[in-house]
Amino acid sequence: MSRTNYEAAVDALVQASSICIITHLRPDADAVGSAAALTLALRQRGKQTRTVIGQRRDISANLFSIPTVDEIELVDELPQGYDLYVTVDCGSIDRTGSVARGIEEMAAVGRVLCIDHHASNDGFGAINVVDPVCESTTVVLLDILDRLSIQIDRVIAHCLYAGLVTDTGNFRWGRPAMHDIAARLMLYGLDTKQIALELMDASTADDLQMIGRVLSGLRIEAAGEHRLAVLFVPHEEVSTHADSAIESFVDYVRALKGTDIGVVFKEQAPEVWAVSLRSSAVNCAEVALTFGGGGHIPAAGYTAHGTPEEVIAQLVGVLS
Ligand code: 5GP
Ligand code: MN
Repeated sequence: MSRTNYEAAVDALVQASSICIITHLRPDADAVGSAAALTLALRQRGKQTRTVIGQRRDISANLFSIPTVDEIELVDELPQGYDLYVTVDCGSIDRTGSVARGIEEMAAVGRVLCIDHHASNDGFGAINVVDPVCESTTVVLLDILDRLSIQIDRVIAHCLYAGLVTDTGNFRWGRPAMHDIAARLMLYGLDTKQIALELMDASTADDLQMIGRVLSGLRIEAAGEHRLAVLFVPHEEVSTHADSAIESFVDYVRALKGTDIGVVFKEQAPEVWAVSLRSSAVNCAEVALTFGGGGHIPAAGYTAHGTPEEVIAQLVGVLS
């Protein structure tokens, strides 16, 4: 099965008159930026659209700075009766949460288009455009919107830029082309300083104090020849602070001197941890896949179950 079939994707989008767009659980800026940009583009083409996430948990407050994110619905089941279902930024079908079963059923009858950039994505759609060369799903999407002759405007450009600036760590990693794409998007009149401020820099004194508490618990663990920088964010902190503050931890451990792997365990529910892995020494996507997760080679994640000592032992076991 081809993982990058742009022609079939464009045909499917042109043919469909009603389209349901789905992005992943615990969405980030690339997830909601992709969903919003595609929704706006398809509306421009006169399509009937609905945009959903398969979870009840609120979308992180900072992401509402991206245009039309307030229109994304949180659902328990996949809305029925759409000609086409498009997943954006979902590296595997389980990342679609409560709508995964519905998507599986629609894929079986040829009605799912998967647009993504995760290396670990095996192409769960009936049609797939999975391009791991692209820095963000919004970059994959820009190519598709161009092929559909969509008129990019400031609002669509804002959505696309939000995914690009965050998934490249503020343009720290990516191809030279990421700067060309950013330059093109800026020319639609984006206030990139304000966009970055609203997306990444807005935190409260309470968030900052929580960051101090968690950082003071930093652990260095050995796993064979590897050294891990590990942070645990307990459930009482995860459940009472902004997602943007919780997601900022990984930046402290991604390249700590004397370590080669950064790990953040975020306790979503008691003893249920969303795990973030970062490394330039090991293939994070491969490690995450062994735990049923996935992602990119330098950045990946999975869900772990157990006490802090148990989840660290599970990871050390795989890395040793
Ligand atoms: P983060 O650590 O920022 O949450 O995620 C890093 C990368 O790994 C992202 O591209 C994200 O989509 C992917 N990822 C994180 N958690 C999971 C997971 O549980 N399953 C899969 N398939 N991918 C994940
Ligand atoms: Mn992404």
